[in-house]
Amino acid sequence: MAVPKRKVSPHRRGNRRSHDALKVDAFQECSNCGELKRPHNLCSACGFYNGREVIVPKGI
Ligand SMILES: [Zn+2]
Repeated sequence: MAVPKRKVSPHRRGNRRSHDALKVDAFQECSNCGELKRPHNLCSACGFYNGREVIVPKGI
C-alpha cells in the first residue's frame, strides 16, 4: 500500500486548508414579492423572472 513518507506539518496542512472555506451563496431580493432568490434565476416563491410570470408556483 502506498503510504506518505512524512507527516504533514501543521503549517503545510493549514496551507492546504486555506482554500477549503465555504462561501455564502449569492442572493437578491425578488423585485415582485421581496423573497430572497438567486440572481439570474426565477423566484421560487412567485415564479417571476424579469418582470413577468414564467411559471405558476404550486400551492396557490
Ligand atoms: Zn418573487
